[in-house]
Amino acid sequence: APISAHRPIQALPDQLISQIAAGEVVERPSAVVKELLENALDAGATQVTVRLEEGGVKRIAITDNGRGIAPDQLPLALARHATSKIASLTDLENVATLGFRGEALASIAAVAAVSVTSRTADAPHAWEIVGSHLGAVAPASGAHGTTIDVQDLYFNTPARRKFLKSEQTEYGHCAEVVRRIALARPDVAFSLSHNGRTIDHWNVSEMARRSAHILGNDFAEARLAIDENAGPLRVHGYAGLPTASKARADGQFFYVNGRYVRDKLLVHAVRAAYQDVLHGDRFPSYVLALDLDPALVDVNVHPSKIEVRFRDSRAVHQFVFHAVQRALAKTSATDHGNAPA
Ligand code: ADP
Ligand code: MG
Repeated sequence: APISAHRPIQALPDQLISQIAAGEVVERPSAVVKELLENALDAGATQVTVRLEEGGVKRIAITDNGRGIAPDQLPLALARHATSKIASLTDLENVATLGFRGEALASIAAVAAVSVTSRTADAPHAWEIVGSHLGAVAPASGAHGTTIDVQDLYFNTPARRKFLKSEQTEYGHCAEVVRRIALARPDVAFSLSHNGRTIDHWNVSEMARRSAHILGNDFAEARLAIDENAGPLRVHGYAGLPTASKARADGQFFYVNGRYVRDKLLVHAVRAAYQDVLHGDRFPSYVLALDLDPALVDVNVHPSKIEVRFRDSRAVHQFVFHAVQRALAKTSATDHGNAPA
């Protein structure tokens, strides 16, 4: 029977609010991987281990060597709208951390079985909290840093579970998120395992090596380094030569202040720079990072923060376009072999 619309207005219980929010924040297992990795990086980790089981649906366990969470703070870590990253609107407008909404862990804990084990630098041992509403913190064993263990995603929301794709597809999305984040942070070591098998491992290195590892040798052998400044804007990274272009747009990585974004304006700016050197049916490969004053970009547009809004989008477009175009022009002046016939 349809739910009656004639009910009095009532405040929703906390758990239900988090389950509703989880619909946006925890779209699929890879979204959990993204949130947990961002938390690890925000905690200053230099080593991060990602363990997945059954495409992340059965288990996502992420261990970092970051600063950890004090035992009295553990219940708050799982509470809704609780964050250590901002405390005011001014903080929000200048936010430099990847997270700030304080809703990821609460959302995840509303649709999965979550435990957090953490040990700060000065603690003699680790502490653990299991679940969001139990609230009991117990001594545990563990190294300095944090492990967040997420099991049985959507176990209590079967309607949601039905939308999940095959194990291999969900695993693929998770691995892609790890690659994206690992590509932005060559100063951090990452490892990834699935169903007990180590799939990949990236040691601490430089951007040149990290990007070669993740994008492959074809890219490493056909790329141009870019590093340009103009006022508050800096763009740096690598633009692939036309020979490193692809039939699909799966070699395009753009970061704004360290955050992977899919932004129409930026994709367009880069594409336009390639106009003269690339056939219309080919996709350029690139790893580009735009850094600017956080006050000049709004990252609070979407819960997953994959879209951003620039205060001066025209200036950003022009800047990125010209930086990439100049890099490409330098090579076509010396090497005529790259332009398509
Ligand atoms: P947000 O990242 O937006 O603050 P989260 O729900 O992701 O919100 O995390 C809540 C809080 O828990 C964070 O602000 C942080 O203080 C703490 N936290 C979460 N994960 C970690 C971690 N891996 N290491 C240290 N602290 C963490
Ligand atoms: Mg977070």
